[in-house]
This record gives sequence, C-alpha cells and structure tokens, in this order.
Amino acid sequence: MTSLASRLAEVDERIAAAARSADRSPAELTRIVVTKFHPASLVAELHALGVRDVGENRQQELTAKRAELDGLSGLRWHAIGQVQTKKARAVRRAADAVHSVDRVRLVDALERAAEPGDAPLDVFAQVNLTDDPGRGGAAPADLEALAEAIVSSPSLRLVGTMAVAPLEEHPAAAFERLAAHAARVRSIAPDAAAISAGMSHDFAEAVAAGATHLRIGTAITGQRPSRD
Ligand SMILES: *Cc1c(COP(=O)(O)O)cnc(C)c1O
Repeated sequence: MTSLASRLAEVDERIAAAARSADRSPAELTRIVVTKFHPASLVAELHALGVRDVGENRQQELTAKRAELDGLSGLRWHAIGQVQTKKARAVRRAADAVHSVDRVRLVDALERAAEPGDAPLDVFAQVNLTDDPGRGGAAPADLEALAEAIVSSPSLRLVGTMAVAPLEEHPAAAFERLAAHAARVRSIAPDAAAISAGMSHDFAEAVAAGATHLRIGTAITGQRPSRD
C-alpha cells in the first residue's frame, strides 16, 4: 500500500472507532479529504483510492483543480474556506457544497449567481465559536437571521451547520456549543440536520458531538506544501 492509502485506511478506521464509541453508524458520516495546497495529482490519487468528497479553502485553487480533473467521475467538491462576496459566482460554479456561508451578503451573492437550470446549491451556515470576528463564521447572535436568509433563497439548500473548533479551547467543549447552535438552525430548517466539524486533530470529539461531515487534511494527505 502507498503511504497515502495506508493513512486513508488508518483514518477511516479511527472514524469508525469514534462512531462505534458514540453509538453511531459510520454510514452516517461523510469523510471529506481536504486537499488544499496539494496538486491536482493528489486528488486524482485519492480518487483512485475511492475518495469522492474533497475540500478546498480557496476559490482559485478549487476552480483550477476542478477544471483539471473534469474527467474524474463522481467527485464532489466542498468549499470550506472564507468566501469573498465578489468570488460568490466562481464558487457557485466550482463547488458542489459550500460549508462557509457566514453572512447574509454572501447568501445574496450566491443566490444572484444562480443561473437558470442550476440545481440548488448545498450550503452550511458557519458559526464562529471564537470571540475573534476575523475567524470566519457568523456571530452566534446572527445565526437565525443567516439561516432564514438561506431558507428564503430558492437556489440554495440549507443542509446544516459548520464550525471550526478554536485552538485555545478543548474541542469537546467547543463542539458541545456547536451542537446547540445546530439545534437553533434546525428550529428554522428541520431538514438542515448536517454538522460539518472535525479536522485531523479533533475529528473523534466531533463525531462524539454529532458531526456528520468531517473535514480531514493532514492526517490523510501528510503535511501540506507551504502556501505559494
Ligand atoms: C485546512 C482545513 C481543514 C483540515 O485541516 P487539517 O488539520 O489538515 O485536517 C478543515 N477545515 C478547514 C476549514 C480548513 O481550512
């Protein structure tokens, strides 16, 4: 086995173990491999190993890799990084799901970017679990208004809630708050049951707290090449 294949298998084993200890089925979980900063060839290798969900955090990189790998069937591209409003159109064209929808202005820009015949775009409402407004995610107080704006956008489908655990806090405590925020979102959109949470170092805690979509990079890909 290549080291990529063995890291992938090991992470999947750990995900299954985390699911079992939380009395959940691994089948409820979507493991997204975060491939940011890696070349498109790595995504192709992952695809050959059966990976179908990949995550990117920058629009240009997402757009370029998607175009380069156009021939690979069944790949789903998840946009997971902060999206500038002026990039909404490009993100809408390149992503199958956007996890980082965190303000009404972005909701409106994604809605305006819809073209006739577009399938509804799956989006998550991202909530900021830190006190730093620069970190991405809506302030918890703004979450209902954000969810309502998404629900009233016909070209968007609110699928759930997303967050990144703060570095300075135990992830289990942060994911407990996230679960409460996700319940607030479900009170507005009962079908928005997904929770996107959990990275290489905290996915087990995320699974224990109800995460359905895990965004795992380095534990599978190895260290990322440095950014440009
Ligand atoms: C990079 C990134 C990840 C993956 O992080 P790892 O620590 O490499 O697993 C997950 N979520 C977001 C939003 C990211 O930007």
